[in-house]
Amino acid sequence: MARTDAIVLGAGIVGVSVALHLVKRGLAVALIDRGEPGHGTSYGNAGIIEANTLFPAAFPTSLKSLLRIALKLAPEANYHAHFLARVTPWLLAFRCNSAPERMVATMWAMRPLFGRALAEHEALMAEAGASRYLRRTGWLKLYRSDPGFAATRPERALAAELGLPVRAVDTWEECVRGADVVVEATRLVTPEPLLRTEWIAPGALVVPYGTVSAVALDLTDVMDKIVVDDWGQARAGPLGALRAHVDSGRLSEANLHAELGEIVCGARPGREHDSERILLWHRGLSLTDIALGRAMLARAAERGIGTRLPYR
Ligand SMILES: Cc1cc2nc3c(=O)[nH]c(=O)nc-3n(C[C@H](O)[C@H](O)[C@H](O)COP(=O)(O)OP(=O)(O)OC[C@H]3O[C@@H](n4cnc5c(N)ncnc54)[C@H](O)[C@@H]3O)c2cc1C
Repeated sequence: MARTDAIVLGAGIVGVSVALHLVKRGLAVALIDRGEPGHGTSYGNAGIIEANTLFPAAFPTSLKSLLRIALKLAPEANYHAHFLARVTPWLLAFRCNSAPERMVATMWAMRPLFGRALAEHEALMAEAGASRYLRRTGWLKLYRSDPGFAATRPERALAAELGLPVRAVDTWEECVRGADVVVEATRLVTPEPLLRTEWIAPGALVVPYGTVSAVALDLTDVMDKIVVDDWGQARAGPLGALRAHVDSGRLSEANLHAELGEIVCGARPGREHDSERILLWHRGLSLTDIALGRAMLARAAERGIGTRLPYR
């Protein structure tokens, strides 16, 4: 039987990294997972290498946030009532360690780890031939209100102290110019071309979303491909980001590249060149909700979970 020096349980990013480093140190390693490697949390995350993260997530302080979590209305946290008693000591320790001075101490303790995150990922990506997947576009954080942004002042001051490249910008242009993906999700009362066409870089995917348009009329002129979810819905009605483009004839069936479904099923090509500017305009298609609902129902039935609700 082959020699095994170490067993690593769980083949997510942590287990795989540990196993690879042990192998590099000359150990024979068995990496074991109950499912597919890399299909746990490491598969379904946002894909940001958090090298510039300073503070870890903190226990919520406001009553409003706590209530939202208690009522299961918060997307960032969930709990099982029968599990609460078991995790109470951990929750208390979490709360205690979320005090401002503890957070700063944790920040300093974690910094060497976070500081190496990018270099370690780069090394593994180079070995795996996956470096092309890394985009060095930074992390754009948007704040809804001035007080929300002002609350980040201590973190930004610390970032400056640590020499981390954090830049505060306050115009649309500084956010959008050169971005790979531009999602415009305004809620205007009257149409206003806030998103300027000249900011859209080659290769960008633009998704205008506002019900009342925030894009310029010449936006469609620079697009290599324009895709809609459903042309029948897009061409009619009084509203939508590209309403004026349709009404003025700039966007018509003649220059529409495809409906989304045609690309998904391979009837029409999606992106063919890195430099293509592509625009997706979606009006919302309940068809996709129906398909998703069916898939969710099948998954729930397979796992024997869910609650049957009376209808009518
Ligand atoms: C929604 C979301 C977004 C996130 N976004 C980011 C982000 O942008 N950037 C970032 O840095 N982090 C992000 N994170 C955090 C990050 O994804 C996790 O910290 C990281 O993936 C954890 O890796 P892991 O190897 O510990 O766990 P996992 O990737 O979950 O791997 C654990 C493995 O263990 C296996 N396993 C479990 N129990 C057993 C058992 N009994 N026997 C055998 N195998 C077992 C599982 O099958 C799984 O494959 C995000 C997390 C979430 C939930």
